[in-house]
Amino acid sequence: MNPRIIPIFLPNLGCRQRCLFCNQKVTGEELPSSSSVRDFIEASLRGSPLDKNDRENQVAFYGGSFTAIHREDQIRYLKEVQPFLSSGLIDSIRISTRPDALGQETLSELKKYGVKTVEIGAQSMIDEVLLLANRGHWVEDTVSAATRLRLWGFEVGIHLMIGLPGDTVDRFLQTLDQVINLGPDFVRIHPTLVLKGAPLEILWRAGRYSPLPLKEAIQWLKKGLLKLERSSIKVARIGLQPTEELERNFLSGPYHPALHQLIDSAIFFDMATSLLQLSQENGQVLFLCHPKEVSNLRGQRNENMIRLKEHFKLREISIEGRQELPRGCLRLQTQGGEASIDRRSFAF
Ligand code: SF4
Repeated sequence: MNPRIIPIFLPNLGCRQRCLFCNQKVTGEELPSSSSVRDFIEASLRGSPLDKNDRENQVAFYGGSFTAIHREDQIRYLKEVQPFLSSGLIDSIRISTRPDALGQETLSELKKYGVKTVEIGAQSMIDEVLLLANRGHWVEDTVSAATRLRLWGFEVGIHLMIGLPGDTVDRFLQTLDQVINLGPDFVRIHPTLVLKGAPLEILWRAGRYSPLPLKEAIQWLKKGLLKLERSSIKVARIGLQPTEELERNFLSGPYHPALHQLIDSAIFFDMATSLLQLSQENGQVLFLCHPKEVSNLRGQRNENMIRLKEHFKLREISIEGRQELPRGCLRLQTQGGEASIDRRSFAF
């Protein structure tokens, strides 16, 4: 079960350079005071009483590169959480940071103060893509950081992006192969968007960068998602969290508030196509799947059904949700018989 997160956003003072896609202000902001962090945790606990029998409660320091800010500031923040850890109101701490700021000494300190989860901004496992994105670190940094984190017993999350300059679908799949080898506990993936104020905006306005069209991003992510599922690596999120700020700053790119759902629908469409190709039925068919996946099978505005009906010249397609079917399984019933497919064994 996912932990309940109390997120504390730190401005990106830990940034060593400006990443091409990032529109956060690099200078001029001050770190929040220790007391404001404490007050925020207390207010969050009051606002949403945490049920200890429910799920794990984590304070998360997000937004910048936690371990790249001054050491005294890191410790100041971590110390603020200690009373909540001692009282049992909070179970652990999560941070997000860059891969080249995770040396042995830092890890020892994180461990000492109750950090359990470390999310690494890897973005790609292709050096050329990292260079073009001005990330300021290399693939090797991610490999050694993830390896060290695992040796120290941290839970490891890896953030990836698709569609950065120099990226291709093959490079993305190669990136995933390398990430899978690192054995993280989860990954987050989001497509590159052009945001107001990011250096990428200049390239985009000059016609030197085109973001992935949404349809293409879905194709890349579909392959990636199935690859990760086959490796049993959890996908914590696909696509950026829709926020007012994001919508205010969004200029171009494959943004959709329900991107993960679009990808699941695309996977169901392919599975249904493959079953219909095998059956060669052209009359009336019935699809069965888990009740929670009926909407994915239908697609947005019933689009999958309309396309399948037209393509296979079917008279009628019905769908029934069946509790006994595992999620990810699709069954086709026709007059000629029955066939099933499971997305985990489904190969493109
Ligand atoms: S993406 Fe992260 S590391 Fe890069 S400039 Fe933005 S906040 Fe800093």
